[in-house]
Amino acid sequence: MIERNGLVLVSACLAGISCRYDGKHSAHPLVERLVSQGQAVPVCPEVLGGLPIPRACCELVRDGSKSKVIDQEGTDRTAAFEKGAQSALAVARAIGCRHAILKARSPSCGFGQVYDGTFCGRQVSGNGIAADLLARAGIQVMTEEQLAPSDNHD
Ligand code: SF4
Repeated sequence: MIERNGLVLVSACLAGISCRYDGKHSAHPLVERLVSQGQAVPVCPEVLGGLPIPRACCELVRDGSKSKVIDQEGTDRTAAFEKGAQSALAVARAIGCRHAILKARSPSCGFGQVYDGTFCGRQVSGNGIAADLLARAGIQVMTEEQLAPSDNHD
């Protein structure tokens, strides 16, 4: 269950903003409502990192103890993802948020599970670049899939 005290940082695509790699959104009714009521602030780390809409699909790839981000054309997008993650953290700190609701399995926003870097739909344990940075900064991160049914009530 989400805490209603203070602003919540949310993935912009969950708020109905068409910022996904394919130019679409992943609107979630509760997240849209939180934003419309002024209780949540949408951010898209990939766009904040300078990536365009649309853009090639990206996945996380393990590189020793670190993760890098490779797009489906083989281009390394790690720097843009890290820049966007820092910008998302800056927004979170500016608005004083302690909670974030982020898009499941995204290489930026995923938390707990992400795609494995093979572009085959397989999932592995791990966090997206932005979600990981936010969590390490002390922000309580959850995905839209962890919202309890009771969160849909006022
Ligand atoms: Fe949505 Fe996050 Fe991907 Fe932006 S980076 S499209 S907010 S999942």
